[in-house]
Amino acid sequence: MPGCGSRREYHSGVAGTINRDDIAAVRERAPIEEIIGQHVTLKPAGVGSVKGLCPFHDERSPSFHVRPGAGRWHCFGCGEGGDVIEFVMRMDGLPFGEAVEYLAERAGVTLRYEAGGAPRREGTAGQRKRLLEAHRIAQEYFAAQARGARCAHRA
Ligand SMILES: [Zn+2]
Repeated sequence: MPGCGSRREYHSGVAGTINRDDIAAVRERAPIEEIIGQHVTLKPAGVGSVKGLCPFHDERSPSFHVRPGAGRWHCFGCGEGGDVIEFVMRMDGLPFGEAVEYLAERAGVTLRYEAGGAPRREGTAGQRKRLLEAHRIAQEYFAAQARGARCAHRA
């Protein structure tokens, strides 16, 4: 199944914080031909397809194909392939999140970051717990103060 490759990055961890719909929008709207064209000289290779020399392996005849309509690229020489995000990750050595941010800027997509992402939610819960703890300590302190004050008053 050609779509298998695009599932991988969801497990990379960083992805959890960026809204999935926005990732899909970036994948759809990023100008893949332009992005890849910065690194590879692309020539027409039939309907809906362009090709060039693969940037991931050394070759003399172009076997690196890009299908802008499908938003995918594939090299028949070395077997590398993926979508526009994977190209940027591999080409620029960026982690998934940074590749998405870079492409979002190029595509004019505003990324939403999910507060529900695992690391952030834990952070918020932790803060809340600490806050409640602080409240409890303060209450006890004032209660003790009040008791102490009453005792001092009586004595
Ligand atoms: Zn290749």
